[in-house]
Amino acid sequence: MARALIVIDMQKDFCPGGALAVTGGDEIVGPINALMADFEAVVLTQDWHPADHTSFADNHPGAEAFSSIEMDYGPQVLWPRHCVIGSDGAGFHPDLALDRADLVIRKGFRAGIDSYSAFFENDHATPTGLAGYLRDRGLNELTFVGLAHDFCVAWSAVDAAKLGFSVGVIEEATRAIDLNGSRNAARANMRAAGVILR
Ligand SMILES: [Zn+2]
Repeated sequence: MARALIVIDMQKDFCPGGALAVTGGDEIVGPINALMADFEAVVLTQDWHPADHTSFADNHPGAEAFSSIEMDYGPQVLWPRHCVIGSDGAGFHPDLALDRADLVIRKGFRAGIDSYSAFFENDHATPTGLAGYLRDRGLNELTFVGLAHDFCVAWSAVDAAKLGFSVGVIEEATRAIDLNGSRNAARANMRAAGVILR
């Protein structure tokens, strides 16, 4: 088995001081850097939205951040504006060991649809191309870390399991947003999909 570490969205906007800060998000940078040496490959994902992105609450007049709306592809949480293409906040945490990454894959770059998962956009159908990259390289055992545990990490891990990869999450190298019990729901979804939580 060849093993890949998939580092989800370790960007400034998701760390304390950022536009959509996850509590303690910066605490996991060191542990993630230390884990990289244990894997044959390291992949970084980067949330990357145009200014008119549908996931931004301020693009929906009258809508509150952290409320949910129904899109034609399903429910969508409306977030504070974050990870705008080319912005400082969309950059990686300055201490993340970028040089160790074989691939950086960007997601959420289409205005009309979000992409929590590193594998499929939120319609659960449009692929990002990551599965093909991993399969072509024979990377079949995937470990997920990063932000946020209950959204982009969980959705990525569940999709990876559904695609047939062997999947684990190192929970101490993640942090959760925990919106309306989303952390426990994400754990249940991951376990149901066969993801090993470590
Ligand atoms: Zn986003």
